[in-house]
Order: sequence, then structure tokens, then C-alpha cells
Amino acid sequence: MSGLDLLAPEHHGLFIDGTWREAEGGASFAVIDPADGSELTTVADGSVADAVAALDAAVAAQASWAKTPPRTRGEILRKAFELINERSDDLAHLMSLEMGKPVAEAKGEVTYGNEFFRWFSEEAPRIHGRWMENPVGGSRLLTVRKPVGPCFFITPWNFPLAMGTRKIGPAIAAGCTMVVKPAEQTPLTMLALAAILTEAGLPEGVLNVVTTTSAPKVSAAVQADPRLRKISFTGSTPVGRLLVKQAADNLQRMSMELGGNAPFIVFEDADIDAAVEGAMIAKMRNMGEACTAANRFLVHADVAEEFATKLTSQMGSLVVGRGQDEGTQVGPLIDEKAVDSVTALVSGAVEGGAKLLTGGSAPSGPGYFFTPTVLLDVAADAEINSQEIFGPVAPITVFTTEDEAVTKANATEYGLASYVYTRDLSRTIRIAESLEYGMVGVNTGLLSNPAAPFGGMKSSGFGREGGFEGIEEYLETTYVGIAAD
Ligand code: ADP
Repeated sequence: MSGLDLLAPEHHGLFIDGTWREAEGGASFAVIDPADGSELTTVADGSVADAVAALDAAVAAQASWAKTPPRTRGEILRKAFELINERSDDLAHLMSLEMGKPVAEAKGEVTYGNEFFRWFSEEAPRIHGRWMENPVGGSRLLTVRKPVGPCFFITPWNFPLAMGTRKIGPAIAAGCTMVVKPAEQTPLTMLALAAILTEAGLPEGVLNVVTTTSAPKVSAAVQADPRLRKISFTGSTPVGRLLVKQAADNLQRMSMELGGNAPFIVFEDADIDAAVEGAMIAKMRNMGEACTAANRFLVHADVAEEFATKLTSQMGSLVVGRGQDEGTQVGPLIDEKAVDSVTALVSGAVEGGAKLLTGGSAPSGPGYFFTPTVLLDVAADAEINSQEIFGPVAPITVFTTEDEAVTKANATEYGLASYVYTRDLSRTIRIAESLEYGMVGVNTGLLSNPAAPFGGMKSSGFGREGGFEGIEEYLETTYVGIAAD
């Protein structure tokens, strides 16, 4: 399987009940290369009827899949893990083409995303309930863990593989069937994943993929169906709110991994070189297009100049280019809308008095590029500090006391990732306990780890993906009381 084979049309249909099929009426849509705006290929444009057919297949497969032994479910995941490892170069190339990220970063995502399959292949046989004696005697109390049932997954374009595997992995392990709707910008990676899972032995109907440009209509119809038992979404907070409202009628279980506004706090006692290195990862991984991306740099006044100078030097020397070109460190953003939004946030900050230390605009020429940018003395209430930037821009705001840093860090509706650099252990504990975030990175710019519970609070959503917690989202509990002396 070479990168080009992955673009061949045999896997560009809808994947329903174990077969590739055309969308209703043969509809299709184009997948665009963000490096130059050209058409890479086309994929099926699924309708509401297609999505309901996918749900029919998931519902039909549910009972037998739930009865499939956990070890068998785990071994399918393990086999898929091995196949993905064998094809990591091709998958990385494909992801780079449709999403824009440098191939080296895409390889990192394949490794990271694939770990969810390995992790959950190991979790499947460890699902268990309990047996206990009634504390007052007279009965035994048992708990039975059962799959929640057919799931609907909506995934974003920024991590086309990992945002799928972190939902598909635990669902397969728990015995759930599913319909997946990948983002319309990046459908190809999910289709390749469906082909690999089939090769790994996943039975018909367990995983169904519907690519579509009609996400709102398709999602509303699938959620209106009482047979659907769970929805897991990764994407923007406004869409998450809508999905939560739509889940109300049928009381579907929900996992919502929504937007972030991560603070990156650097204290005066931090190792500044390490903080700059961590900042480059927290900011520039995925061109800044990550919900965990450092969005606001809060730096103590004593070290702000040193930090800003060193960060500017590194940001200013990054190589921007096509993700498949050797040496590229920063690829294009996903589309023109993304470039316009980042441009507006930077202009607003500069108009509000921020100093532009490097970058600041989109280069001329084809593709959706934006030059890595550092802004100093950004007003705390600037729009760039309250909005998710989703681009290669580092706004720095200066603080003087620990209380001020914590207050500023928590002054957002979001609560996903946060980062702190300090060498003071007591401060580390105080800060980790006072930050209103689902994740706190201490002296590290990289938090994502399949063995850890990923997720947020407040407007960043709820539910956890990965870790021991990840499988709980896919399990129901039935308590059985048995009279006994
Ligand atoms: P972004 O703005 O970064 O693309 P979105 O939240 O719009 O973030 O997209 C994330 C995922 O949600 C994508 O798969 C997209 O197709 C899907 N989506 C967007 N709008 C809706 C909607 N109204 N209902 C269901 N899914 C949606």
C-alpha cells in the first residue's frame, strides 16, 4: 500500500455493513490539498438515508458483537495496531496530504493514535464487575458491565487518525458497534482505517463510516433515532452544545471533547530554555491547530524578556512549507477561513497595543499558510486571549504574582489543557490544584498520552478518553441483587 494507493477510489465510498458503497444518488465531494487548494480526490457524500442505513447496520451487529469474547475483540484491535505500524509511512503521507501537517508530525500522530488500539486491546479482557456481600446480610450484590450499545462518533480534521482511534478503540474493546462521521476536510484517513480494521477481522456492521457534507442533517437524524445509545464528539464548543441539546430527547450517553484556551504559565524560577522548548511543542504541534495548544503565554515580568526573545528566535526560524517536502516544520492551515480568523486575531491584538516580534501575516502565494508569530504585551482582555487561535501564534501577557497568574489562567470559559513551568515543588502542587483544567502539564509541553485520561471541564466538555477511564464511557452497569443467607 503506497501513499498513492491510499488515494485510489476503491475505498472512497461509504463503508456500511462491511461493504463499500456509493452514496444515495452517487453524490460525492472533493477533498482539498490545503498546501495549494487543489483537488486531491473525491469521496462519497452520504445522505440522511445513508446514515440511517449505517445505523441499521450498527444496530443489527450489536447483539452478536456484545457476545464476542473480550479476548477476541482485543485481538482484532491488536492486529489492527500491527497493520497500522506496518503502514505508518503510507498513513502519515495520506494524512499530510489531506490535512497539511508535515509528514514527520503525521508519523507522530500515527504512533500516538495507534497506541489507543494497543491500550484498549489490553483493556478489553480486563472489563469486570464485582461480587459483594450485602453489608447487613441476606443477599449478594453483583455488578455486570455491558456495552452501552450503538454509538455515533463525530471527529474533527486536526488529528484525523488519533481522534478516531481514541473513540473506536474503547468502543471495540467494550463491545459497542458504531457509525463514524469524519470531518469533511479529512475523510481519507478514516476510510483507510476502516479498510485496515476490516483486514484485522472486524465483523461486518461493527464499524460503519459515513463521509458527508451534510453533518448537521445527518447528525440530527441519527440522534433522533432511539436505537442510538451514545454519542462521542470532538470539535468546537458551539457544535458540542447543539449535540448535547439533540441528545436530550433520547437521553443518549455523551462524551464531549470541545474547545480549549490553554494557559502556558512561566514562573520566574523556571528553567527558561526548557520552558521555550516546551512552548514550541505546546504551541507549534500541528501548526497550533490543537485543542490542547498553548493559547495564552503568561510569563512572569522578571523573565518575560528572556522568554520572548528566545521564543521569537525559534519561531522566526521555522521552515514553513508543504507538509510532504523534506525539512518542512510548519504546514498550511486547514482552509482559507482558518487563515482569515488567525489574521483577524493578530490584527486585533496589534491594534490593542501588542508588539509584533515576528511573523504576523499570511505569506502570498497558493495554499493556506500563516507565518509563525509572537506577540508581546498582549492585553489580558484582547480577543486573542479569549478565543481559540488554532494557528501558529504565541501571544505573551506579563504577570507579577502567583495569584495573578492563576486568576488570569482561570479567567476563561474553557478548561481543557494547561501548562506550568516552575522548579518549586510547593508551587507546583498549589497551581495544579487551583487550575480549573482537566489536564495540567508541569515542565512539559506535551500532555496527550493514550494511558492518561484526556478531557476537560467547563465549556471544554466532559468525559475522558484514554487511560483506565476511557473504557468507562462505553460501559453500562447492571446491579443484580441475589437473596442469600
Ligand atoms: P471546526 O470549526 O474546527 O471544523 P466543528 O465543530 O465545526 O469544528 O467540526 C468538528 C466536526 O463536527 C466535523 O466532523 C464537522 O463535520 C462536525 N459538525 C459540524 N457542524 C455539525 C453539526 N451541526 N452537527 C453535527 N456535526 C457537525
